[in-house]
Amino acid sequence: MGKVIVLDAEGKQVSFTSEKKAERLLQEGKAVEVSRDPFTIRLARVVDLPAREEPPAPALPGEGKRILLHICCGPCGTYTIQRLRDLGFAVTGYWYNPNIHPFAEHELRRETLRGYAEQVSLPVIWHETYDMPLYFRQVAGHEAFGERCRICYRLRLEQTARAARDGGFDAFTTTLLISIHQDQEAIRQIGEEVGEAIGVPFFYEDFRRGWSERGRIANEYGLYKQHYCGCLYSEWEAARARAIKGTR
Ligand code: SF4
Repeated sequence: MGKVIVLDAEGKQVSFTSEKKAERLLQEGKAVEVSRDPFTIRLARVVDLPAREEPPAPALPGEGKRILLHICCGPCGTYTIQRLRDLGFAVTGYWYNPNIHPFAEHELRRETLRGYAEQVSLPVIWHETYDMPLYFRQVAGHEAFGERCRICYRLRLEQTARAARDGGFDAFTTTLLISIHQDQEAIRQIGEEVGEAIGVPFFYEDFRRGWSERGRIANEYGLYKQHYCGCLYSEWEAARARAIKGTR
């Protein structure tokens, strides 16, 4: 025996019933037949169905959390700030880049970030000192590209993690993760090591999917875009590469 479709007086489908029960409702005048194929009856009364509860939206990973974002320059901050906000984080920027040389270039990048941060209402903690001598002491004897970069990442991420811990942040991360020129795996590994040692979780996401959006936003806001990574070594390497290519 097939199931019979049951409508209420307003025509809403409210349930199914057996043919035997449907026939009884028809005989008792409590329902009228709508069709035989498929067998459908309509009740004489309106049935109030309980409202269907929508499942709650899944929580965003950053909801209710404060994150300290180490920012290496204004352009790399663009997509990254937006993305972290989209993930629900309350974002605060952190400026600590003793690897940027000379000092005039450091100031130019810092001012670029300052202007952009104002426009997107980003609070920023500015590390007070320019620790350029510390950078050179740490990379001394390890100047090869890659080797010195890992030291450079650690120097900046350790300081960011300490600032995050002191400021009571729930996590920290870095705009270095958006760069197609940096060693993503090394940054992730060092960030996680440092976070564990200092006691603040490192938030990892491969932000490189936002690389072209980074360029678009930087152009829209007219941000200064540098032509070398930051240290004197990288400035020399970039100049040498351009000379070899004959672009300068
Ligand atoms: S190339 Fe960039 S990441 Fe590497 S040491 Fe220089 S400033 Fe740091």
